[in-house]
Formats: sequence, structure tokens, C-alpha cells
Amino acid sequence: MQDKTVSEEQNRPHHIIVVGGGAGGLELVTRLGRKMKHHRNKCRVTLVDANMTHIWKPLLHEVASGALNSFDDELSYMAQARWNNFSFVPGRLAGINRDTKTIQIEPSQDKKGNPIGTARDLAYDTLVISIGSKTNDFGTKGAAEHCQFLDSREQAEQFHARLLSRYFRAQSESAEQQKLRIAIIGAGATGVELAAELRHASEELTEWGLDAITADNVEINLIEGANRVLPVLSERISNGVQQELQKMNIRLHLNTLVSQVTAEGLETHGGEVIEADLKVWAAGIRAPSFLAGFGGLETNRLNQLLVKPTLQTTMDDNIYAFGDCASCTIKDKKGNDFTVPPRAQAAHQQASLLTKSLANLVLKGKEPKAYCYRDYGSLVSLSNRSAVGNLMGSLTGNINIEGKLARMFYISLYRMHQLTLYGKRRTAFLLLRDLLERSTQPRLKLH
Ligand SMILES: Cc1cc2nc3c(=O)[nH]c(=O)nc-3n(C[C@H](O)[C@H](O)[C@H](O)COP(=O)(O)OP(=O)(O)OC[C@H]3O[C@@H](n4cnc5c(N)ncnc54)[C@H](O)[C@@H]3O)c2cc1C
Repeated sequence: MQDKTVSEEQNRPHHIIVVGGGAGGLELVTRLGRKMKHHRNKCRVTLVDANMTHIWKPLLHEVASGALNSFDDELSYMAQARWNNFSFVPGRLAGINRDTKTIQIEPSQDKKGNPIGTARDLAYDTLVISIGSKTNDFGTKGAAEHCQFLDSREQAEQFHARLLSRYFRAQSESAEQQKLRIAIIGAGATGVELAAELRHASEELTEWGLDAITADNVEINLIEGANRVLPVLSERISNGVQQELQKMNIRLHLNTLVSQVTAEGLETHGGEVIEADLKVWAAGIRAPSFLAGFGGLETNRLNQLLVKPTLQTTMDDNIYAFGDCASCTIKDKKGNDFTVPPRAQAAHQQASLLTKSLANLVLKGKEPKAYCYRDYGSLVSLSNRSAVGNLMGSLTGNINIEGKLARMFYISLYRMHQLTLYGKRRTAFLLLRDLLERSTQPRLKLH
């Protein structure tokens, strides 16, 4: 009897659970599911996510401004699972028992507070954690109560609803009240892109009849602690973007640290008060706080799980972590330590490496390979007008690009994500749909 149990155990397919179907996780389960299609007796793949649908996070500032209708670009996890040979379990990762190799899932909630999924335990052979990050307000007083964060589709939609409601209200207000003051804390890529999108929206909305608040009466403040916008990018890109933002009449507050946020606006360490009706915190990230101490795994001060270059957690080779929720330190070309930045580009590359590593592990018993980050450059979108940035490649070297060409490359990042998820034919259909929609729908979401 015991022998039978042991042999059943040995014949059971290896169960890989990926928690978090974001920019990295959904690419991983899609590729892995396809790869394992003809090896169902050896491996099964399960995705767990707190939501029922996926939206690519770098699009959230467009959802916030109304430039993108989130319903158009969402992808159902259940449908993706059926099309790509993996299972989907809705729910939120809540706990782990590394001895029994089980995770605890608790139900998450839909917009109306109804539970999604049921509480349950799931047994894994290999676990991959890719649950992304949240905005880091560094404990600034009042930030959580008065600032909007852009961590999820719901938050981006909430900001958009507030923006529109302010415009609708202004239609019946007196001339002195017809103004809108926005403050965005953090002039990294998210803050800069959001500021440009909102300036564009302020010009568009008047054209669609919401003309009480004219673009001249929309004050957009971008607040940054460093002495330039996009402090992690080169000075050249930063200067170019700064000039563009000034042309868009976006007020820059550099070397400015926010000490407190109130219902009326922001107070800075220098004693300045910046009045604002809408406030968005877009400075810094941290991994979800429950990861600190999660199953005795090692984390850093941002709650990110520490992983080896193979993306295995430092304390447990059966648990991998990647994307924003992981901190992976590798060597750069000069042999110096380099921590992989929390970007969609890195999550995409890591998903691709993990697909190979996990397939090799299950099918051939091979050890996983080390991750090597390839920086293909950085592009920052300045709404639909243009983008600025640099491209790095073996053919091109490091070149700076801007304008419509840069915008084209920027959009191609999303198309590459779609290509991984949908394949060539369906991505081409989606491209066609988007082109057709441009001539049949308003350029901004107006409800
Ligand atoms: C507005 C904005 C603009 C950006 N622009 C760019 C850009 O232009 N270029 C770039 O490279 N990067 C950009 N980024 C950063 C980029 O979005 C992230 O680096 C990337 O999404 C990280 O991918 P990920 O797979 O680690 O996590 P995510 O894409 O955040 O996915 C995490 C997933 O985990 C799920 N999840 C979370 N907690 C749980 C839980 N407890 N249980 C189950 N599921 C859970 C979530 O529902 C989500 O599906 C931007 C970010 C923002 C917010």
C-alpha cells in the first residue's frame, strides 16, 4: 500500500503555482502553459490572482486621464487559462507553509465588496511569486487619506471619475470657481507621463463640451525631491523632458520634499503650500507589506523578497520570485553589483528566463540559469504627441530618440506584451480594432 502511495506521488504531475498575473506573471503562465501542452502528465500550471482580469500596469496613467478605456484592454484570466493550458484560481495569497508546501488563498473582493473565490489551501511543488508592488508614500502624513495612488485599475478609474466629476460640477459653478488644481508627487516616469496625459486631457475635454474649465484654468504641479525630473535617467533625457513639460505649462517644483498632505493641498519641508483639488502620489514603490516575514523568506526594507540570480528565493530553492516584488542583485558588465530595477522590461525578461528554467527543471531535471538584465533603453511618453528616451541595442548602440518615432517605439512595448499573450494573429486583430476605434469613438473616455 505504502509503495503504491509513493509511486502515485512520483507519477503525479509537477505542480507549478504562479501567484500574480501581472506584466511578468501572466507572460510566464501563458508561455509555460503552451510549452507544457504536450507534457500534461508531467506538469500542470496554476495562476492565482486577486483579480479576474489583467490590465498592463504601465497603461494605468492613461486609464486615469481617460485616454484609455480599461474595458477595451482588459484580458480575462479564465479565458487566457483555457486558451493556454493553465488553470486559474481567483483569490489573494495570504499565507504559506513551507514544510507542507502549501499556500493559503483568501477570497478577494469585487468593486461591490462581494467575495471573489473561496478560502482554500493549494499544494505546490514549485511556487513563483510575482505580485508586483504598491506605491510607497514613505509614511508621509496625510498621503494615504488625501492622495490617489495608481496601483490598480480600480484606483486609476477612481481618479478618472473624480476628474470628470470635477469638470461636470464646474459647468454650473461661478467663473471664479471654474478651475482645477492638480498636484502630482514624484517626477519619475509615472508622474511625468501622467502630467502630460492630464494636460492633453484638459485640452480635449473642452472640445467635447466640458468647457467651463478651460485648459488655461487647469494648474498641474509636478513635485520632485531631486534636482531634475526623471532622476534615474540621463541628464540629457531629463533636460529634454523638462523643456517639453514647461512648454505644456506644467509647473515643476524641483528639490522639493512633501512633509504633509491635507484636503487642501501639500505642505513642503521648505514651508511652501501647494494648493490642490486632486493629488496623486507617484513617488517610489514597495512590495506588499505582508511579504515581510512571509514564510521566513528574506526580504529587504521595501518588503521585496531577496532572490538569487536564478530568481530562487535565498532561503528556499522551490520558491521563485520576480518582477517588482523581488530584489535581484546581479553583476553588471564591469563586475559591480547591480540591482535589477522594478520595470515592466525586467519582468518581461525574467518571465522569459523562468519559462525556460522551469520547463528544463520539470522535463529534464536541469538546474535553473542565472538572470542577466539587458537594458534596451527607457522611453517616456508625453501623451499622444510624442515620447522621449533612449534605445540601447547591439545594432543601434545607445541612441537618443524623441518625437513621433519615440512614441512609436513606446507603443511597441505594449504590443510586445500583447504578442506574448495573444500570439501574432490576434495581436494584429487588436491593432486593427484600435485603429478602427479611433475613428468611431471620442479620444477620451467621457463617462
Ligand atoms: C502608471 C504606471 C506606469 C508605468 N510605466 C512603465 C513604463 O513605461 N515602463 C516600464 O518598464 N515600467 C513601467 N511601470 C512599472 C511596471 O508597471 C512594473 O514594473 C511592472 O508592472 C511589474 O510587473 P510585475 O509582474 O512584477 O507586477 P504587476 O504588473 O504589478 O502585477 C502584479 C499582479 O499581482 C496581483 N496581486 C497582487 N497582490 C496579490 C496577492 N496578494 N495575491 C494574488 N495576486 C496578487 C495583481 O492583481 C497583479 O495582477 C509603470 C507603473 C505604473 C504604476
